[in-house]
Amino acid sequence: MKINSAEFIISNSDVSKCPLERLPEYAFIGRSNVGKSSLINMLTNNKNLAKTSGKPGKTQLINHFKINLNWFLVDLPGYGYARVSKKTKEVFQKFITDYFEKREQLVCAFVLIDIRLEAQKIDLEFINYLGEIEVPFCIIFTKADKISKTKIDSHVAAYRKALLANNWEEMPQYFVTSSLEATGREKLLEFIDGVNEEIFRSGNL
Ligand code: GDP
Repeated sequence: MKINSAEFIISNSDVSKCPLERLPEYAFIGRSNVGKSSLINMLTNNKNLAKTSGKPGKTQLINHFKINLNWFLVDLPGYGYARVSKKTKEVFQKFITDYFEKREQLVCAFVLIDIRLEAQKIDLEFINYLGEIEVPFCIIFTKADKISKTKIDSHVAAYRKALLANNWEEMPQYFVTSSLEATGREKLLEFIDGVNEEIFRSGNL
């Protein structure tokens, strides 16, 4: 998929205020600092679309970006950042769960995982939650340039093992990415393109 346009539409903390258009929507979520903003900017070929910053926990809203005029990329708040006050945390968790449970246009969630780290409890809990509410998701491993190419497979295998230990029957579809090297960009955009085509063909949204 070629990115012809990427436009910021709206930020909010209320799922009922998200755009009304019936366009397929892809949500990007992960722990703060996982590389979500960098990935969004890399995917859309736009250095500034999502704010990258050294201050994790800063973007705490649901951000809608319209891509190629026919799908939405949704940037969700990073989770699990200790310095966010408990109250704020509770609030955004509620609107995040509202988003996942009520947003009919959501066709796939991308859960971002730093490929260097052992499986983290908070990510596994979040993945299990998506399973419970039956939201389709893929895993995006980030920062692949930070480990040697030969280690990528073993890190993915370790993650698969952690998921199987959490009662998952198989590894979900996953992508290995590096925003620094634009790794995984084509595959991810191709995947989105394929899902979009299927949705437009079936008229199911
Ligand atoms: P966010 O909090 O999840 O939006 O994370 P950011 O995109 O702001 O990235 C957090 C930090 O990781 C920044 O210092 C980025 O430069 C760095 N980073 C993000 N993606 C990559 C990547 O693919 N490779 C490398 N080497 N660094 C990355």
